[in-house]
Amino acid sequence: MGTLLTLKNVHKKYDKKEILKGIDLEVQEGEIISVLGPSGCGKSTLLNIIAGIQDLTEGEVEIAGKVVSSRQKCVDIEQRNINMVFQDFALWPHMKARDNILYGLKMKKTDQAEMEKRLEQVVGLLHLEGLLDQYPAELSGGQQQRVAIARAIIMKPSIILLDEPLCNLDVQLRIEMRTEMAQLFHSLHTTVFHVTHDPSEAFAMADRIIVMNHGKIDQIATPNDCYLKPQTATVAGLLGAGNSLQRGSYIPETDLVQYGNQTLQAMTFFKETTKREVVLKFRPEEGALLQEYEDNCIPVAVILSSFEGGQYRVKVATELGEEVCVLYTGFLESGWKGYLKVDGEKLYAYQED
Ligand code: ADP
Ligand code: MG
Repeated sequence: MGTLLTLKNVHKKYDKKEILKGIDLEVQEGEIISVLGPSGCGKSTLLNIIAGIQDLTEGEVEIAGKVVSSRQKCVDIEQRNINMVFQDFALWPHMKARDNILYGLKMKKTDQAEMEKRLEQVVGLLHLEGLLDQYPAELSGGQQQRVAIARAIIMKPSIILLDEPLCNLDVQLRIEMRTEMAQLFHSLHTTVFHVTHDPSEAFAMADRIIVMNHGKIDQIATPNDCYLKPQTATVAGLLGAGNSLQRGSYIPETDLVQYGNQTLQAMTFFKETTKREVVLKFRPEEGALLQEYEDNCIPVAVILSSFEGGQYRVKVATELGEEVCVLYTGFLESGWKGYLKVDGEKLYAYQED
């Protein structure tokens, strides 16, 4: 397995606004990469630069060892052996599914027998039997998605780019399609560069996740590592650790944080500095509410319980007046007093610049 795609110090500016601030990345052949980040952080811009649809301001993009984008040049998408699947599928409305799928091969004047052979393969892979004579408007969202993917893979590109490929599908179909797509691309050994703002889509599809924030990469790791060890407070927030306690104070040369009168064990994600203030982050499902004091607890009082089906989301306030949410099996009255416990490896501590 060699490196197929390399990004070196990629910058992009629109007017004076810097959208990408130095992206470095290597993608291996056959790897599925998911770029995850909030809306507006520059994901589509990065994908379009890889496609050659947009130029870059500084840096380089290499595919299979050849520079395809730099300040001096921008090789056309047709010359990059890349294919894209768009968010809105972008099927030709006046063409039947068959003609949509074969469009690229026809443009390349592929011979008829080869086209038939490849069509048969993608129809089988994507379960399109019986749909080839339908127009896009006669297909469901999920079927259109399959046609769009078939149209891309029939070209046998070395890289497939997917920009939020599932966001126009309903929830159930999204969950099915993301697993199916990952299986399909792995079986074809296709290299995939996928961008999404949906963590569960990235978790389900990616071999490695790139977490982007404000035009920079915050973390590159396997889905499991990103989930268990989010390197920055932003990554933690994006991956479900929405609770923040701002008033922690780091105890030097330990993995302990002082919060009010309590000492808490935490995962620390910073280099030792003279600064003491830390922000603690954790997921609502990692917090337990207890009546009796235990290790790694802080006193809290309930503000509000709301039913979520099967469990309650309980908002509590700490003694320092900060509010967080935890999931709990029962209803707790406002004013209920007890303790909030988060295990040390689930409590993340960050120092913010
Ligand atoms: P994402 O895909 O992560 O939501 P985009 O890459 O689409 O983000 O956009 C990143 C930022 O770049 C946004 O602030 C957007 O407004 C800006 N942007 C995107 N395209 C253009 C453009 N053609 N001209 C000016 N600004 C743009
Ligand atoms: Mg986008």
